[in-house]
Amino acid sequence: DSVAERIDRARLDTLLDRERSAFVDRHPRSAAAHARADHLFGRVPMTWMNKSAAGFPVYVDRARGARLTDIDGHEYRDFCLGDTGAMAGHSPAPVVEAVTRRLAELGGASTMLPTEDAAVVGAELARRFGLPYWSLSLTATDANRWAIRLLRAVTGRPRILVNSYCYHGSVDESLIVVGPDGRPHSREGNVGAPCDVTLTSRVAEFNDLDGLSRELAHGDVAAVLMEPALTNIGIVLPEPGYLDGVRALTRQHGAYLVHDETHTFSAGPGGATEAWGLDPDVVTIGKAIGGGVPIGAYGLSAELAAALTGRTDLDLVDMGGVGGTLAGNPVSVAAARATLLQVLTDDAFAGMIEVATAFADGVRAIIDGHALPWSVSQLGARVEYRFAAPAPRTGTASAACADPQLEDYLHVYLLNRGILLTPFHNMALMCPQTTVDDVVRHHEVFAGALDELLG
Ligand code: PMP
Repeated sequence: DSVAERIDRARLDTLLDRERSAFVDRHPRSAAAHARADHLFGRVPMTWMNKSAAGFPVYVDRARGARLTDIDGHEYRDFCLGDTGAMAGHSPAPVVEAVTRRLAELGGASTMLPTEDAAVVGAELARRFGLPYWSLSLTATDANRWAIRLLRAVTGRPRILVNSYCYHGSVDESLIVVGPDGRPHSREGNVGAPCDVTLTSRVAEFNDLDGLSRELAHGDVAAVLMEPALTNIGIVLPEPGYLDGVRALTRQHGAYLVHDETHTFSAGPGGATEAWGLDPDVVTIGKAIGGGVPIGAYGLSAELAAALTGRTDLDLVDMGGVGGTLAGNPVSVAAARATLLQVLTDDAFAGMIEVATAFADGVRAIIDGHALPWSVSQLGARVEYRFAAPAPRTGTASAACADPQLEDYLHVYLLNRGILLTPFHNMALMCPQTTVDDVVRHHEVFAGALDELLG
């Protein structure tokens, strides 16, 4: 009773065509904006923005809290939230105030000099994630890149180990998968790799301690870079004992452990690190901690910081390859201070997780109502459904149950009825302003999409 067997593909085609036509009819201004942008490569500011189930993206007019309005005047209940960049809600008042004060009253958007806000941000990240020393970047990608450089330097080892079908930003070392032959391969579509990724990286399946142990035994891995739960190939949750096993194996083989909490931050105020009692050497993060304003960060253990400080051969102050001119700029840091201290608070997370639980329960009930072999995974304030049951336990298994046509249908159907999901996922994220009413509306529309498809 696979999904493929349950779903009438001709009917799905017809419905997808109907929804795409309706989308085009409903969005003349977005269509025109896209058609007009002759001097943008791919007609969009960044090529990813062409990932749209409908052929062109909706163009944003305004966004507040959990709502977004496009230039055709349609309002969306936004469960995408900028794929986590807006997990604090769009333009939360404390962030607007802090950034406005910084920009308009005090001035100085880009100074390459510290402001006093940064130490507050570092202390708050240390309190939440348990790592004492923090450094700032502008993106999670750069936090990962710079952490990788530091860990290669400290260990003198060349390779980084990641999980198959991970995502850590546009990080060269991470574009590796376990192929059908069980061997490491460059990820399909990898653009302009500087060298064969199998020279810089090793790969193991998530939830596979034997595979990890085998790869670490080569003795050339500087660090394991992983999300505590995969979130970019559906949500793949760790099985009991897996993360403890990863920690033990990395210690045994002298490799550092980096947890990328950019998305798993949804698990709670201190991410999965705090929620699940994890003990990584490095945490990397970005996106949400700036309340929508670009910022990334990485936190180092005391041992690692001491090892780096003792290295006079590493140029950490100028041309050594770690750092960026705009990193730690006064605006980003003011935004992060306001976000962490006033918006994404412990109380806010409790509410977001409660609403996410309602989201997950409702989706499960609708799926069960149709006896669909799908699964729903929740990671705190984040929920995702996947076209397989039980939920896949590795990235490769999760990748194998993708169904782009079905995903597109659901996305456009929802968009046409005022619900925005992350284009890359069947993922819904809750911000502090997301309400149970938003969730109920999502469920009505989602149920409608399935009723029409399955009868
Ligand atoms: N790490 C993880 C886990 C992510 O999901 C992402 C983005 N989806 C990144 C890093 C990179 O973030 P950015 O594109 O903002 O650099």
